[in-house]
Amino acid sequence: MDQSHGKPPCTAQTKTGEPCRAWALPGTDRCQVHTPERQEHVQELRARGGKVTALRARRRRLHTIGALVRYGGEKLLDVEEGHISLDMGRALFYGLAVQCKLIELHQTMDLERRVAAIETALSDRSDKGRQWVA
Ligand SMILES: [Zn+2]
Repeated sequence: MDQSHGKPPCTAQTKTGEPCRAWALPGTDRCQVHTPERQEHVQELRARGGKVTALRARRRRLHTIGALVRYGGEKLLDVEEGHISLDMGRALFYGLAVQCKLIELHQTMDLERRVAAIETALSDRSDKGRQWVA
């Protein structure tokens, strides 16, 4: 076997059982996601309770359309490259759709509240004798 030429692909399988399509890390036959040492490191970090709070504090906030667009783009590529399963991808994109809807709803409610405030202010003025010409 001659592996000295070109970038070798990752030899691992994805969660869907297909060959991983990422390139292997230099000097290895696995990509970043499929390197066991890295997974141990990640699990070690997860196991340390103290780190959890810090990680949670740095957790991304998916409360704006911009953040959702970035997140969705990343996850789309993760699905395409086989780093997350199709089932996980489906769940994530369902969640994204719900989150988009909630942001839309929040904006609509905010708009309605502002219109109501304007209407109240206008009716106060007309009570004082100022009429708006229709
Ligand atoms: Zn891989």
